[in-house]
Amino acid sequence: MTEPRRPVIAGNWKMNCLLDAGLDLAQAVEDGAGGRDCEIVICPPHVLLHPVNVALEDNLLGLGAQDCHVAEKGAHTGDVSAAMLADAGCGYVIVGHSERRVDHGESDDLVRAKAESVFAQELVAIICIGETEAERDDGRTEAVLAKQLDGSVPAGSNAANTIIAYEPVWAIGTGKTPTADEAQNVHSFIRRYLAEKLGDDIASGMRILYGGSMKPSNAAELLAQADIDGGLIGGASLNAGDFHGIVECLP
Ligand code: PGA
Repeated sequence: MTEPRRPVIAGNWKMNCLLDAGLDLAQAVEDGAGGRDCEIVICPPHVLLHPVNVALEDNLLGLGAQDCHVAEKGAHTGDVSAAMLADAGCGYVIVGHSERRVDHGESDDLVRAKAESVFAQELVAIICIGETEAERDDGRTEAVLAKQLDGSVPAGSNAANTIIAYEPVWAIGTGKTPTADEAQNVHSFIRRYLAEKLGDDIASGMRILYGGSMKPSNAAELLAQADIDGGLIGGASLNAGDFHGIVECLP
């Protein structure tokens, strides 16, 4: 019998919050945490990671970064390594978010190398995948996700070092979401595909989060699905009440 998967609700703050607002938000999220058996993770912008880590005293939240460089250190102007993120107090790093893939031309190979650099620091990689609206309309969702999983997920991924975030690009920041059934079908496909790649034991233990316009009003239905193990929340993570409203929707 495999262990139940512990749900994860992660807030991706993206490029939002100056210092004071970020500290207030982090504190408000921490103040409301602790009531549920789940991992609650906040992912502020890089410059806020250390101050947030210092300010949060109760250790109820996981701290995650939104990206990292593949190298541990060196001549990479403007970049931040996974080693630096670990040093700043992070336990998680998001890699391969569609905004990175699009805005920065990140390939599956690069995303995989980033995930490997996250593993090297013994942090957890939250690896994002998702199809565009055109790919969905063409009926290519599974083919696109299979290619992303093949390219972006390292061979050394396991249920402890990797979380997958399924984020349909057309749902991010748009207010549109798949139905709970549609999302479940995609998550089930992802888990079956991971089982082929990594084996049944790893796939059945790996958390697969849904992301894209998740909010308190639609979270309960999505989070009730058998293969949806939590959420990666953008817009709604910037308001502690909404973020906790989603946490409260966990079954
Ligand atoms: P959203 O973003 O919740 O604002 O749609 C999710 C994400 O991009 O991680």
